[in-house]
Amino acid sequence: MMDALVPTRIELARPLPPLTYLAPAGLLPGVRVKVKVRNAAATGVVLGPDPEPPQVALRPVEAVLDPFPLLPPRLMELLDFAGRYYGCGLAHLLPLCLPPAVEADWATAAPEGPRLSELRDAGLWSRLAELGEAWHRGELAFPSLFHRRGLRGAGVTEVRRTALPNPPRVTAAQARVLLALEDEGGAMLEDLLLDTAKVGHGVLAGLERHGLVERVRRLDLLSQKREDDAPDKRVELNGEQLAAVAGVTPGSFGAYLLYGITGSGKTEVYLELAERTLAAGRRVLWLVPEIGLTPRLLSRLEARFPGRVAVGHAGLNASEKQADVIRLLLNDAPLFVGVRNAVLAPLRDIGLIVVDEEQEGSYKSEEHPRFHARDLAVKRAQLSGCPVVLGSATPSLESWHAAQQGRYRLLRLMQRPAGVRLPEVKVVDLRECYKVERKKVIFSPLLLKAMRETLALGEQSMLLLNRRGFENFWMCRACGETFDCPHCSVSLTYHKGAYRLRCHLCGFESVPPEVCIHCGAEHLRGVGEGTEQIEDQLRALFPAARILRLDRDTTLRRGSLEAGLLAAELGEVDILVGTQMLAKGHNFPMLTLVGILNADLGLKIADFRAAERTFQLLTQVAGRAGRAEIPGRVLLQTYSPDHPAIVHAVAQNFEGFAAEELPYREALGYPPYAAMSLYRSEGDTPGAALEPLRKLRLRLDTLPGLRILGPLEAPIARVKDRYRMQLILKAAGRQLLGEAMRHAPLVPGGAVTLDRDPLNFGI
Ligand code: ADP
Ligand code: ZN
Repeated sequence: MMDALVPTRIELARPLPPLTYLAPAGLLPGVRVKVKVRNAAATGVVLGPDPEPPQVALRPVEAVLDPFPLLPPRLMELLDFAGRYYGCGLAHLLPLCLPPAVEADWATAAPEGPRLSELRDAGLWSRLAELGEAWHRGELAFPSLFHRRGLRGAGVTEVRRTALPNPPRVTAAQARVLLALEDEGGAMLEDLLLDTAKVGHGVLAGLERHGLVERVRRLDLLSQKREDDAPDKRVELNGEQLAAVAGVTPGSFGAYLLYGITGSGKTEVYLELAERTLAAGRRVLWLVPEIGLTPRLLSRLEARFPGRVAVGHAGLNASEKQADVIRLLLNDAPLFVGVRNAVLAPLRDIGLIVVDEEQEGSYKSEEHPRFHARDLAVKRAQLSGCPVVLGSATPSLESWHAAQQGRYRLLRLMQRPAGVRLPEVKVVDLRECYKVERKKVIFSPLLLKAMRETLALGEQSMLLLNRRGFENFWMCRACGETFDCPHCSVSLTYHKGAYRLRCHLCGFESVPPEVCIHCGAEHLRGVGEGTEQIEDQLRALFPAARILRLDRDTTLRRGSLEAGLLAAELGEVDILVGTQMLAKGHNFPMLTLVGILNADLGLKIADFRAAERTFQLLTQVAGRAGRAEIPGRVLLQTYSPDHPAIVHAVAQNFEGFAAEELPYREALGYPPYAAMSLYRSEGDTPGAALEPLRKLRLRLDTLPGLRILGPLEAPIARVKDRYRMQLILKAAGRQLLGEAMRHAPLVPGGAVTLDRDPLNFGI
């Protein structure tokens, strides 16, 4: 029997409400289809039949892309939850689980069965749905369901977009190439690109001649490092580690907070738990923050579980990502390690979820859909009926509070393995230095002395300053005006090497003026040194030293950060200078001195988490020094040595910090004692940005239990010529904020967007 066509709700990954098309009856939610929207082709996702279709002539879908939902049912449940919680549609979440390039092959067949295309052509969609369910249950195999399986390996040609702006005129074929590259984040394998854009080599060559793209033999440090087979260095777990492992109950849901300083052996605990989970025949999802996916971790995993590890990395190229996702769909790799999006990986039958460095901000997506991977990991563990282990040396106050309340179980590792010592941390009071020197001091005499000693011993120093560029802003001494971005409400940063004033928000840049643009005076002055200037000064102070700067400006090229870190690890660098990207996840055996140039920078930000972030950053940086046999020292320069974040960071005392900070949060009604939602809107004028939030507030005012702040100007009131306003909701619990969402639903693509559990109030 042929299944008929019925009105079906289909959602596109665009800011639009779901649309209704005619589609074969029996298509399950999650099946991808090709549709036409305003005569252009688009990919959509089936949500289900439309019980109240609009009374207009409905268009049929152009094609059904998937024979059945390709994602495991448990994962669909998670997406359903995430969609309701964060207020976003399935079509926006699905591409994060299943890259658009992963396509099922209709020509495949189960053993003895008909080809999937035959069932399709006979209109037997319900039969296809049944086959899909059997496939997910593991009762039926489709060995060649994914025809792009096992693509090309390392050492392939990649096409990358250069920094040149789009030219005013391109041919249609060139435009397809540029668009395809843009969709994939700027880089694609050549074959795949030719295929996707449906162009020949000539088109690429033309674009290359104009400098718009470049072709590179890909040199991927991650996969290279993965190949050399380091032996598995098994350690005998100490008593605390064994207790932590024993504290985790396998086979049922439980959230655990594994708290232990850097080097206390948390990773060994994860490895042991992972091994037990795999031995029990279940799978492991292992999340690391963006900076944590290092060659070191991958080789440690590969050594322990050879051939069983698949990797999801935002930085790997499209086809490599695709190949590893396909391995998951085919149950080919029982351990998946990856960054934020990996929490949505199509891994079946999960028996353990690890979230390393759970406090890291990179787990929170700052673009739509704005989900938090750590929070979804806890939900996924609940749906999978398995333990989730959140690990950290400086837990988020949210998780710490949950552990104190008993919602999470606390596992502690208090001692460092033998031979590893905590560094000695010294505070340098910059107010005292100012009194002596009578001018602003960048390198205190104590720091300079320590650097000289370190250099003389042939050891490494690291200097941290959380501000890039040469000077933070320019100011006219005569009129006091600063030079601001014409499109954003921030000042421009001077970059000396490029000889430009740049906006760090929109990328606007201009050649620095000779005289003040406001009053014509010649007394221009830079204020607030950045990493570029620090590097300059270090080269003057230590001309013979090998100096490496790592910040967003020096690591634009893919692989350059990894290359720099590797050089530092191998001892090819004497002085490392950079922003917070240096603070995390690396192991520099030669590093014995860490200098924090201005510990107060992060404290000045108007955000209730400023102290927590500063504490975490300082503690992490300090932990970089002296992990090996040589003891390390840390010099922390500050104007506010009595600030709790600094006092406790110096003592490397997380619990002391938490005990002092939590009562403030409670008194002021901030998380973890309250839940927050942030509604944002933008407009061409301040009024246009304000109006939709004002209306929203009127609706919300009728709901009890909410504290509503705003609408107010966003901390950065204008970006790229758009004015920005925000409305903040606080409530005792998250449920109330969910009710607020249902009470005042937002229109997809409308003026207002929602950020639940916001971490970043500025952007
Ligand atoms: P963390 O993840 O907490 O930073 P790791 O698990 O990476 O700590 O451990 C730090 C170092 O100490 C690693 O080189 C690890 O192999 C080693 N180590 C951890 N536990 C033990 C142990 N019980 N015996 C010997 N060495 C250990
Ligand atoms: Zn700007």
